[in-house]
Amino acid sequence: MDDAGVVTAQRWDSDALFMDEWVAQGLHGNMSYFERNQAKRYDIRELVPDAKTVVVTLLTYEHSGHDYHRTLKSLLYQMRQRILEESDADEGDVFSADHQHVFCDSAPVLERRMAVAAGLGFIGRNHQLIHPRLGSRVHIGELVLQVDVQDAPHEQLMRPYALGCKDCRRCIEACPGQALGREEWDARRCVAYITHKCEICQTVCPYNEKLI
Ligand code: SF4
Ligand code: SF4
Repeated sequence: MDDAGVVTAQRWDSDALFMDEWVAQGLHGNMSYFERNQAKRYDIRELVPDAKTVVVTLLTYEHSGHDYHRTLKSLLYQMRQRILEESDADEGDVFSADHQHVFCDSAPVLERRMAVAAGLGFIGRNHQLIHPRLGSRVHIGELVLQVDVQDAPHEQLMRPYALGCKDCRRCIEACPGQALGREEWDARRCVAYITHKCEICQTVCPYNEKLI
């Protein structure tokens, strides 16, 4: 893992409002899965009923190899094992026996939202999670615990769009589809969404160039 943080399992009300509006405007394009599983997406306790804490982890593209799902899940299971070894708790008290509790881009989970709340970065004008040191080329994974973790943040930080971007607008100016520049990302204009062959908004970002 390249970094990790914890956040209290909760419903993300402000994100629910934001995403419902995004979908209502049709800005999600053909990604119809955004029209389903909203209850689960906005509250991980709908997926893991006894969830109390979410460990949010980041793995850079550089360290994730060809199959990032496999690499990241393997690391999450190693972390799971280590937590059990270093605590006296019974496995069933810490992790759900009945529900999936390791996630990596594999379920309706607000991964970037939880990463921000766990203190791992901010959402930039390119709508990516940006870690101050790792940049935005990171995969996000989660390990869900059934126990409270002391000092896990609970507050619903407002969507911190652009807080860390300062005056930079490089991604907006460079985006070939003009998909950026408003609060919502317009998937219908995103070349990556259409062709899977664009990440200009990450390439031009100074956090990825390590200039800031
Ligand atoms: S991936 Fe390309 S088209 Fe999509 S928002 Fe980024 S720069 Fe724009
Ligand atoms: S390119 Fe600039 S404006 Fe865009 S996400 Fe990076 S820092 Fe923010």
